[in-house]
Amino acid sequence: MAKRKLSKKARRKKFIIKLFFALLIIVAILIGIFVFTRKDIEFLKNIDYKNGGDITYYDIYGIHMNFNGVFELSDDFSNPKLVLANGNKENVIDWKLDNDGNSYSFETSNYINDGINLESLDTGTYYLLIKAETKENDETVYKYFPLTNTTEYDNLTYYTLTKNNSNKKIDITWDRFENNELLGFNIKNTKLPDDVYDITIDPGHDSNDAGTIVCENGDVPNNAGKCVNSKAYKESDINFTVSEALKEELESLGYKVKLTRNSKEDTVPTYGEMGSATTANASRSKFNFSLHHNSTNVPGGMATTHGLEVYVAGDSKFDLAKLFVESVCEYGKTSISTKKEFKVSEGIYQRFSDDGITPYYYMIREVGGIATHAYVNGSNENYGKNPYYDSNNTAESYLLELGYIDNVKELQNILDNPKGYAKGIAKALDKYLSK
Ligand SMILES: [Zn+2]
Repeated sequence: MAKRKLSKKARRKKFIIKLFFALLIIVAILIGIFVFTRKDIEFLKNIDYKNGGDITYYDIYGIHMNFNGVFELSDDFSNPKLVLANGNKENVIDWKLDNDGNSYSFETSNYINDGINLESLDTGTYYLLIKAETKENDETVYKYFPLTNTTEYDNLTYYTLTKNNSNKKIDITWDRFENNELLGFNIKNTKLPDDVYDITIDPGHDSNDAGTIVCENGDVPNNAGKCVNSKAYKESDINFTVSEALKEELESLGYKVKLTRNSKEDTVPTYGEMGSATTANASRSKFNFSLHHNSTNVPGGMATTHGLEVYVAGDSKFDLAKLFVESVCEYGKTSISTKKEFKVSEGIYQRFSDDGITPYYYMIREVGGIATHAYVNGSNENYGKNPYYDSNNTAESYLLELGYIDNVKELQNILDNPKGYAKGIAKALDKYLSK
């Protein structure tokens, strides 16, 4: 009995010690949070709200965010910088700055797929500010100025690409601190909501619209799209086979992937909520890849044109497109297209409407919203409506013409090796994102 009493006492003592340390840890965390928040508020209080500038344009295209803006600085200030800061941490953002006396104008990039890489930001709360130097009592001091919103656009939400099975959610909001407007970035770890995806793949055409139909032996299909002496192939089906293989490749790299149609038999509208041109944005994908196969319409499989064509949006950096060209040629055992028209670099093509600005292909133009001059706003009843035509938060879109299927040799290469083409695309994206 005595022994048991003693052990009960010992256990209680042990429990009290444990409780004491647990409380100590909780108090330490609370003090930490308090000090951290105080520093944040102290930082916000010290911003010079009487001065500052305006954001005149902003958008997210793919994984990049861009800002254009204007501000004024008096003669007392020099060396202005654009920063994402919170008093503890500061990221200096690259920009192109012009000034005329005390008036400045800036843009973070002149490419739509460049600028602030949203994938690279750490968790926390930051503010987009102008930072400039001045002298006080012969010492260099730094002042921060806010940027306010003069656009018709409002708050944005961005989910980072899935990495190691996790994501970050970035809320970009026009906050107020003591009645003063400033732009905040709130970045938290999260899991993707069910309806949010990393990448959308559009297997071009559908069961209603086959694209090109070819015969394996090069014969011309009859009017019913049938071949007498060999197998008939529809572009829509080949597009789907490569798209399915690409989905598998990207999923094996950890990405969450959406197809605009789920089978060869599916039909899909172009516009509306979940059309071929709207699914990427409806699912908040960062990238859209529209896969096609080309034809020259030279009868009898005698096409001499062959090879890969990567179509890109205007005002684009070609970094990812170049990787597509290299990698699809390597893994698909193919080569760049022999076509000269619309060519802007090896294997890279840009095709515009007559105005020379608006992308010709709707899978590039309409997916990119304001960044790519989308215009299908529902006013033309023949076209339906792209709900994202005026969106400033859209997917970066590429149209890949993987090869000419009315060239018998190229058709055979694609039929033999669809997974190679898919692997080439996936490897290129992986390389681009791990830079
Ligand atoms: Zn096509």
